[in-house]
Amino acid sequence: MRVLLVEDDPMIGKSVQQGLRQDGLTVDWVRDGRAAELALTTVPYELLLLDIGLPGRSGLELLAGLRHTGNDIPVLVITARDAVADRIKGLDTGADDYLVKPFDLDELAARMRALLRRHAGRASPVIEHGDLRMNPATHELTRNGEPVTLSAREFALLQALLEQPGKPLSRARLEERLYGWGEEIESNAVEVYIHSLRRKLGAEQIRNIRGVGYLVPTRQ
Ligand code: CA
Repeated sequence: MRVLLVEDDPMIGKSVQQGLRQDGLTVDWVRDGRAAELALTTVPYELLLLDIGLPGRSGLELLAGLRHTGNDIPVLVITARDAVADRIKGLDTGADDYLVKPFDLDELAARMRALLRRHAGRASPVIEHGDLRMNPATHELTRNGEPVTLSAREFALLQALLEQPGKPLSRARLEERLYGWGEEIESNAVEVYIHSLRRKLGAEQIRNIRGVGYLVPTRQ
């Protein structure tokens, strides 16, 4: 999952970015609304973590602008303690959820997973597809009930494919999802992860459509 974090407080920004990275997420961090707008036009983020109290353009203005243009990215706003009015305004402006500072990183991660489930129209935290069963919260994958050990990036790549069976994702799209700014992308990294996933799960689980991308086939 690739996430944009908009937070001007360096301590909070750094700890959230590091904490979520340890959870296997790709997190880009910007410190103001203008940089956030630019980032959102160039990267297909799956979720926006938005501090309300930003220098210059406030988080609320940024959010209002996004919703005005029909952008339906899941948004979790971060507000200061006691800023009840900000929370209400945030939700009314189109935020999907909020957290009050200081917050627990595990709770943040859990709320993000819940938002993504709802956005994808899933009620269950577990993604099931054929003989595969994936739990993004615990990073567990089983095949026919047997645990399969995946690296963090293999897991993230498989999750991206399992979230939309039958729809191909291009190599570029998968790279965008797996790597944040400033992270060096090894050449052929996606191919290497796909190869490894096929070896662990069976070659038939992931199909390559030449010139288009990769997909997990839908099943009857
Ligand atoms: Ca702030």
